[in-house]
Amino acid sequence: MKTIGIIGGMSWESTVTYYEVINKEIVKRLGGFHSAKILMYSVDFAELEENMDKGNWQGNAAILTDAAIRLEKAGADFILIATNTMHKLVPDIEKEIRIPILHIADATSDAIKRDGIKKVGLLGTRFTMTQDFIKDRLIASGLEVIVPNAEDMEIVDNVIFKELCLGKILDDSRNEYKRIIDDMKEKGAEGVILGCTEIGMLIKAEDSSLPTYDTTIIHAKEAAGRAVE
Ligand code: GLU
Repeated sequence: MKTIGIIGGMSWESTVTYYEVINKEIVKRLGGFHSAKILMYSVDFAELEENMDKGNWQGNAAILTDAAIRLEKAGADFILIATNTMHKLVPDIEKEIRIPILHIADATSDAIKRDGIKKVGLLGTRFTMTQDFIKDRLIASGLEVIVPNAEDMEIVDNVIFKELCLGKILDDSRNEYKRIIDDMKEKGAEGVILGCTEIGMLIKAEDSSLPTYDTTIIHAKEAAGRAVE
């Protein structure tokens, strides 16, 4: 079995889900007493959040590259960055390590295409929804991607940083997300990507008028599969 190197803590709430889903998937595949071989470097999210706010992406690249190098040195066979947003820094991190990074957008687009879906809505942080690091990869895989309007993007982003990353799950916010998903359905989306690793804490499949693609679950299962394939 390969050793998975997780860069976690962004936020720690969603990293808990990664740990659980990876191990459950290993048990599903191998049975018995099997469990995943995992090395984890869990960052202090406050430092990264402050850097994001100031637009100091180089600061975040330095923190995550340091984490990836430590995981490589410790014996990880591949790296999992347990957040969508920090995938913006994949090119910076990749330059400094020899082991591969299992990209969250690749695992997600594979899952969506397996279901025959062509047009998807994307929910995530303002960075994920407005910039190209996830979207371009999804589009390059053949998907059509739509995002909420500017006002709704602000709501989605605020819920992530002011509530979910602090462990707050509020019914009002769930209702807002439901409305935004309905709107994307009206615009022709056939599925919705929960493209932030905390959204699954708020929105379950039954809350959504569209099939959901939870990037945390998809990424974690893909990692477990990669570890034993
Ligand atoms: N976990 C979130 C994501 O998947 C946001 C936190 C972050 O900025 O890393 O994008």
